[in-house]
Amino acid sequence: MKCEICDNRLKNKVFLIKEMMFGFHEDFKYMECSKCGCLQLINSPDDFSRYYNFDDYYSFKNDGKLKRLLKRKWIENVLFKSSLIGRLLSLKFQKSFFDILALQNIDKKTRVLDIGSGSGDLIIALNDMGFEKAVGIDPYVKNESSCIKKKIYTRLVNQKNLI
Ligand SMILES: [Zn+2]
Repeated sequence: MKCEICDNRLKNKVFLIKEMMFGFHEDFKYMECSKCGCLQLINSPDDFSRYYNFDDYYSFKNDGKLKRLLKRKWIENVLFKSSLIGRLLSLKFQKSFFDILALQNIDKKTRVLDIGSGSGDLIIALNDMGFEKAVGIDPYVKNESSCIKKKIYTRLVNQKNLI
């Protein structure tokens, strides 16, 4: 089975995972690429709205002001080691998604695309930090903004971007 990101076909692992969040208990097949490590859904449903069309779905809720500030400080520290509050948060929340971001050697000029961004808290945090080209897309987001758009991603355009 071919990786959609790097085209690797060798030694990719397939996992069968049961949906538990909404209680549909349907099986989904995921593949983990042995080369780039990307985890991808193989048998994707034609219509995802069934799984996201909930007003209280967590990724469509924006953080409050305090959480937004703390998240920004935390990411700032992970990426640039520049925030005391963020350093304290990093002690509590080790090994996060942001640590993976830090390994990508990005700076504030890097173009970042968050696919399936939900309400876009990650992108908002990056914008708050001064990232000028960080945008999120999500087909189910209700409130679009300058950095979060209601869109479906169709193809890789520029491999130099962080996606
Ligand atoms: Zn791959």
